Amino acid sequence: MKKTFYTLLALLFTQFSWAQDINKIITAEYVDGLIKTLSSDEMEGRATFSPGIEKAAQFIESEFKSIGLLPLEGETGFRQSFELKGKPLFNVAGIIPGKSRAKELVVISGHYDHLGIMKVKDGQQDSIANGADDDASGITAMIALAKYYKALNNNERTLVFVAFTAEEIGGFGSRHFSKKLNPDDVVAMFNIEMIGKESKFGKNTAFITGYDKSDFGKILQKNLNGTPFTFHPDPYTKQNLFYRSDNATLAALGVPAHTISTDQIDTDQFYHTEKDEYSTLDTANILATIKAIALSATSIIKGIDTPSRIPRLVEQHD
Ligand SMILES: [Zn+2]
Repeated sequence: MKKTFYTLLALLFTQFSWAQDINKIITAEYVDGLIKTLSSDEMEGRATFSPGIEKAAQFIESEFKSIGLLPLEGETGFRQSFELKGKPLFNVAGIIPGKSRAKELVVISGHYDHLGIMKVKDGQQDSIANGADDDASGITAMIALAKYYKALNNNERTLVFVAFTAEEIGGFGSRHFSKKLNPDDVVAMFNIEMIGKESKFGKNTAFITGYDKSDFGKILQKNLNGTPFTFHPDPYTKQNLFYRSDNATLAALGVPAHTISTDQIDTDQFYHTEKDEYSTLDTANILATIKAIALSATSIIKGIDTPSRIPRLVEQHD
């Protein structure tokens, strides 16, 4: 009787402390602070090669450092540098090594570049394309998830957190990233793009691009059973979103690499304009989506579930 009582107490305590943890670690203030900074005018719209994107990179690096991430294998810092047309640029990446299956990688990503400063039209005051939703929201999620999993400290697989550069000008950051590893080692990729506004399915919902190409989405949803949050297949398949973000390169190499989003891309008036600002965001939506991703990924991170591979489209070359 006594033993049972304590077992029950322990069980209750574990569940209670888990629920406590996520709300303590991923707080509204923390998430808000990240997205406000990344989408501030000081970052000047984070255009690739601009001083503004350098500021964003430094901010992401400082967050990675304070969370306690480690650099990628073979790198001395968080910058994964390369060249594009003779000009230097870099992804920002950090890892939490896996406890028992360190060779198996789970990638969590977004892109930190955006469009920069737009041409000033007649009578217009603001010309900075802040990219608050696109994709400061995704980078915010990626950083918050890093903080969360580092605090949990129970990932069996290695977690790779990456802020890609040069997405808006052709997906160059994710392409470079994919050449620097063996795609067969990547068990899953959670790419996060535009989670700043409520999805067409309503509160506590998000969609997954390429939903039917692997069982990634089904695994995520299974882990959310009993919560109010649901993942849906991408409702905008004609827009080819699966091929329009940083998941595409690794997906073509066979990785179950999907993008999670809540954007109503068919009617979003702020998309790729200087109006994509912090003030247009639904911060509760961002917070709920981040927490749902955190929970939905648990069985993959612990090595319990392994999503099916996507049929390989291209051979890797370098
Ligand atoms: Zn984007």
